Amino acid sequence: MRIDLHAHSSASDGTDSPAELVRNAVAAGLDVVALTDHDTVSGYAEATAAVAGTGLTLVTGAELSCVVDGISMHMLAYLFDPQEPELARERELVYNDRFRRAEAMVERCRALGAPITWEQVRRIAGGGAVGRPHVASALVEAGVVASVDEAFTPQWLANGGRADVRKHELDPFEAVRLVRGAGGVPVFAHPGAVKRGHTVPEKVIADLAAAGLAGLEIDHLDHDEDTRARLRGLADELGLLATGSSDYHGARKSVRLGANTTPPAVYEALVAQATGRAPITG
Ligand code: AMP
Ligand code: FE
Ligand code: FE
Ligand code: ZN
Repeated sequence: MRIDLHAHSSASDGTDSPAELVRNAVAAGLDVVALTDHDTVSGYAEATAAVAGTGLTLVTGAELSCVVDGISMHMLAYLFDPQEPELARERELVYNDRFRRAEAMVERCRALGAPITWEQVRRIAGGGAVGRPHVASALVEAGVVASVDEAFTPQWLANGGRADVRKHELDPFEAVRLVRGAGGVPVFAHPGAVKRGHTVPEKVIADLAAAGLAGLEIDHLDHDEDTRARLRGLADELGLLATGSSDYHGARKSVRLGANTTPPAVYEALVAQATGRAPITG
């Protein structure tokens, strides 16, 4: 069983449509793929239709933007009820603020001499949850930087960078409560991804575990071997599931589907905690 629990579609900052993501997951030899777009569930219908007859299992999810003590972090949420109103409302607040914030980032870039436009960024985002990777693609199109990764520097879009603008983000304790309340399973995404900026202290992870966090995403391209070993020890200590996933973004990043995977027993334990929805087997 090959299980990849973190992938983005064009509903947020991936480049595959939800149907293409499903087709590519089948082609990559995956048995299970989770659709985890940033702050939106808008890819569910298309992905669900595409999975029929493929034999692939689709786990519906999202990656919620959170902040604690000024440190941004991502909370993966699996198999919650997408209609549960409290979580839906909070998700929408974050989703909507992305548009204000992206337009402000475009203004910053223009003031810094980068000839990009809001129309261009909207076109690149194609109606999906707009974010820094779309602004980064605009900077690449304009020839300002050579790659999306190169846009994530203090000169441009890195956390606290010259053109970075903050967005509304959820308190992760509130996110855990909301996800559990919607029958879902919360997993802290790439908790040791130092290249993205400050990481959340272990004390906060312990507090989140006590508040209902289910797991840590440990096997992830942004974690080196030492980080994985440290996080595995922490997960053992706190009784958390240890997941692995690619964090696939289509052509926007070089990582391939299935680059990291979750063991079947961990997947089964995660699904057993979900009451909002079941995985969809095509
Ligand atoms: P946003 O949610 O709009 O703030 O954008 C966050 C997204 O930007 C993440 O989900 C990644 O896809 C991408 N990202 C963040 N940091 C980096 C980085 N250092 N290099 C490349 N992509 C990054
Ligand atoms: Fe992303
Ligand atoms: Fe993330
Ligand atoms: Zn992600």
